[in-house]
Amino acid sequence: MRHLMFALSAVLAFIAPPARAQEVEDRYLILVTIDGYRWEELFRGADPALVTDPAYRARYVDAPDRAAALTPFLLSFAQTGALIGNRDANSCARVSNDFWFSYPGYAEMLSGRPNPAVRYNAAIPNDDVTVLERLARRGLSVRVFAEWETMRAILNEARSGLSIFTPPDYGAPHDPQVIPAARAALADPPRVLYVALGDTDNRAHEGEYEQYLAAASEADAFAREIWDAYQANPRTAGRTTMIITADHGRGRAGDDRWRGHGSGRWRGIIVPGLRHAGSDADFIAVRGPGVGATQSYSMEHCATLSQVAATMLTALGLHDAEAQPDMAPPLDVLAAE
Ligand SMILES: [Zn+2]
Repeated sequence: MRHLMFALSAVLAFIAPPARAQEVEDRYLILVTIDGYRWEELFRGADPALVTDPAYRARYVDAPDRAAALTPFLLSFAQTGALIGNRDANSCARVSNDFWFSYPGYAEMLSGRPNPAVRYNAAIPNDDVTVLERLARRGLSVRVFAEWETMRAILNEARSGLSIFTPPDYGAPHDPQVIPAARAALADPPRVLYVALGDTDNRAHEGEYEQYLAAASEADAFAREIWDAYQANPRTAGRTTMIITADHGRGRAGDDRWRGHGSGRWRGIIVPGLRHAGSDADFIAVRGPGVGATQSYSMEHCATLSQVAATMLTALGLHDAEAQPDMAPPLDVLAAE
């Protein structure tokens, strides 16, 4: 009997798919967030009514394809992977928290569920354990480059021990400080790289629409650079999944509400003046091994930002090992293997 079992297991080992542990070793994950970048600019391009500077008009408005002129790499995920959130084509992504601003958005995205207790942007250490912390605990190399200091609290740096870069000169534009630091990490790619850019949101709050466009364009170009670096490295080529998303959307352009975002929820009531309708809208882009287009998410059934956490785990082959019972399911973009 023992011999039979041995023979049987030998046969099974031969016909079974590669061992999970081996697969896990091979996988890499890149997460890029572009704070408050709207689905409207991603899919429609620059809003002509908001661009006055001639150079910006020439580059982003008079272009034959406005969307492709702005964030072409992100847009290319529609062909190379999955791109969710083009509401003009009945594809929908949204945040599932009730607040529609940054800390609740990042907390939802990284822990896999909205936490109703997170209703502030203050740098209060996150009680939830994020997937980045779970992955670091498993011994994966995780590196974070974030333009927002509060990311240290969201990732609970003191508890997680994660390595988190934030801009040394907080008074200067943030992304141009984050990008070179993250670029230096590409020489020895970590298993999990998170780059959180955000001059999009910073400039939009200032009402600087053209600078918001420039920040989006630069974020897109850097995301492409990261992807190309992982594909050029024999260790990571063909083994890397990239996810690009945002922590929230913005208000609508017509009434000048594009500058801000938020549900207006304050102490249990909605304050109409604070409410930016539509700023719960989002986009989620995924590409990598086995990732393909999905028709699963319509205006009647939106993908949610909370699904990013389980999607990250799935891409690394660690969903069964690390998913929590209250986590939203992975996005329906990964073909069964
Ligand atoms: Zn903001």
